[in-house]
Parts: sequence; C-alpha cells; structure tokens
Amino acid sequence: MQDIVIIGGGVIGCLSALNLLDAGARVTLVERQQVGREASWAGGGIVSPLYPWRYPPAISRLADWSQGFYPQLGEQLAKATAIDPEVTPCGLLWLDHAEQDDALDWAARQDKPLRRVDAEFIYRQVPVLAEGYRSALWQADLANVRNPRLMAALRTRLAQMPGCRLLEHAGDARLWLEQGKVAGVQAGGQRLAADAVILATGAWSGELLAELGLGLPVQPVKGQMLLYKSEPGWLRSMVLFESRYAIPRRDGHILLGSTLEHEGFDKTTTAQALDSLHASAVRLLPALAGQQPVRQWAGLRPGSPDGVPYIGEVPEYPGLWLNTGHFRNGLVLAPASCRLLADLMLRRQPVVDPVPYRVEGRVQRLADSP
Ligand SMILES: Cc1cc2nc3c(=O)[nH]c(=O)nc-3n(C[C@H](O)[C@H](O)[C@H](O)COP(=O)(O)OP(=O)(O)OC[C@H]3O[C@@H](n4cnc5c(N)ncnc54)[C@H](O)[C@@H]3O)c2cc1C
Repeated sequence: MQDIVIIGGGVIGCLSALNLLDAGARVTLVERQQVGREASWAGGGIVSPLYPWRYPPAISRLADWSQGFYPQLGEQLAKATAIDPEVTPCGLLWLDHAEQDDALDWAARQDKPLRRVDAEFIYRQVPVLAEGYRSALWQADLANVRNPRLMAALRTRLAQMPGCRLLEHAGDARLWLEQGKVAGVQAGGQRLAADAVILATGAWSGELLAELGLGLPVQPVKGQMLLYKSEPGWLRSMVLFESRYAIPRRDGHILLGSTLEHEGFDKTTTAQALDSLHASAVRLLPALAGQQPVRQWAGLRPGSPDGVPYIGEVPEYPGLWLNTGHFRNGLVLAPASCRLLADLMLRRQPVVDPVPYRVEGRVQRLADSP
C-alpha cells in the first residue's frame, strides 16, 4: 500500500487517482480550486484527435486504447454516481478534406472504420448542414463525451472511495523537498508526506518543475469555444471543416470550437474569437446565423512538442511522477495515460509500450538551477 499525493484535479489527475485507488493505494488529490474546472471542463470532448492520421503512433496507441475503454468508463461512472458522462457515438464527418488518401491509408493500418462518402450520404446524415460540401471522410463509431459531466462524475466517484482524500480550494500546491529529495507536497498550510507525488497540473506543469531547476516544455495554449442551443437530435453527428468543428450534445446543445492562441496564462474571451467562431458556425450550420451563442469560454491546453504527453518518473527526483502535456487530446488520451501511469508506478505489465512517453531525455536542467 502506498501513500500517493496528486497535484491537479483535471481529467488526468482524477483518472490517475481512480486507477491507483482501484489497486488499493491511498491517494490525496490536491486542487487549488474545485476539481475539473480548467481545460478538462473547457474542452469539446471529441473522443479522438481532430486529424488522427497526422499524429505519431505514440498518440494513436493511447487514443485507440482509450476509445475502446470510454463506453465502459461512462457506464461505470453513471452507475456509481448517477451522473452520466454521456459517451455518445454519434460519428464524425471530415468535410471536403484534402488529405483523404493519407487518412484512408492510416485507417487501414489502424483498422479504423473510416471511409469516403459522397454528398448524398453527407446530407442524409446531417440535413441541416450548409449546402455545397461534396465529399467527406466518415467514421460512424466516433464518440464525444460530455466532459463537464465526466468531471462531475469523477469528483463524486473519488469522494465515495474510502482510500481517497480530496483537498479542494487548497491554494497553490508546491513540492516539498527534504535534502534534495521529494518528500511530499505543501498545500493550504499543510505538509502532506508521500511515498510518491504525481504532477497532473496540465498547462501549469512547467512552473512547478522549474522550481526544481528542470525545464519541461509544456506551455499554455488557449482555446475558445461557443455554445448554442437547439432541439435534441437537430445535429446528428459531429462535423469538421478547416479545423473548426460542431459537436452535438444529447440535450440539443451544440459546441463550436475552437481557437488556438499563444497568450500565456490569459483566459479571457475575446470579441474577435466570438466573431470568427460564429462565422465558422454559420458556414457549417446556416440556421445558427440568427442565434446568439448561449455561452463563450476559454481554456488552457497543456501544449507539448508533438502533443506527446510525459508519463513516467522524473529521473533526477525518484518518487516524482509526471502525467502531463496532453495538449489538444487530453480527454481522449486520459484513460490510457492514467492506466499506463498506474501500471508503471505499481510495476504491472504496462498497457502500452511506455518508452515514447518517458520523461528521461525530454526534460532539461535549467542553466541557473540550484
Ligand atoms: C477549447 C478546448 C477544446 C478541447 N477539445 C478537446 C477534445 O475535443 N478532445 C480532447 O481529447 N481534448 C480536448 N482538449 C484538450 C483537453 O481538454 C486537455 O488536454 C485536458 O483537459 C488536460 O487535462 P489535465 O488534467 O492535464 O489539465 P487540466 O484540466 O487543466 O487540470 C489541471 C489542474 O491542475 C490544477 N493545478 C495546476 N497547478 C496547481 C497547483 N500548483 N496546485 C493545485 N492545483 C493546481 C488546475 O487548477 C487544474 O484543475 C480541449 C481543450 C480546450 C481548451
């Protein structure tokens, strides 16, 4: 039995906690606000990378495992908490996409049911789509998860588990070092001793590691989204054109995303993004032209080189583990990433090859480090 402290209550921290608790560990999860209010709340919840064929195999492997696991995760959480994360396999249309041949080659290699479809199919599937799209790629089994509900369900589930302590609104947690070794975490005026500490601090992970003199190339990348309200079933599938997408929720809400902005830790929404996202919404779904979005928000993705997350122990600080840097794909990659982390910490057979995600060689000592 191990005492583990996790800093960060996004999808990565919460699912890491759940995996370790299921294996009998004692876990304290420390979050400076309420669990699940940052990127994991703000994201769209597509259970796939946007253009999966563009990513290295390291991403495909985690995505593939997670996609297989999501329906089960949704059901388990709904049963245990009465909060349904609404994992909904409504399919995704990539409209008029120039990389169709690359995508189909990738799909054949990955054994994914992705296929080319014509205009007749497109308009039968999504009658409310704007006119003029001629062909698309279609994957019928692609799902989206209602991520704010996923986070609410995870929070409730963790609070139910006897080995779990949730410390919310704990202020900025920091690593606690004793003689150069990580002994635990300091948060909210307390010292929490730990056999192991996990950093699941999303876009803020670089800041915490910099305190140890280590440079982790995880940067905040702002994304803004709009929310519309229509009738349930009005938009039947997810649609994507030129990096802008619309996602239907079961109750008729439609998310329109997203921007990609390098503005540091600024999370303010802008009129410019509102105009640009609304124009994309109308280009996809003209009936939204006369509608005011019901909400606009921004979140900070944990950007990393190639989007390959860091999952493993920090060689310079034994007992300190990272699970971060999931960039645009943290919701889809979370189940596999957190299972892998638990496998490594508990010395179980890893669910995927851990080598591409290793911290070793990917974190630099800062020049003016202690
Ligand atoms: C607009 C947008 C659209 C997206 N769409 C998708 C999508 O469709 N599919 C997909 O797979 N992914 C998507 N993503 C990406 C996904 O949301 C992220 O990759 C994922 O949520 C990252 O999870 P996380 O747990 O690492 O980070 P977060 O959810 O940001 O959690 C980190 C937590 O750590 C806490 N924290 C940080 N520092 C400290 C500290 N010192 N002490 C205490 N607590 C601390 C924060 O408060 C926060 O709660 C999207 C993201 C955005 C912004």
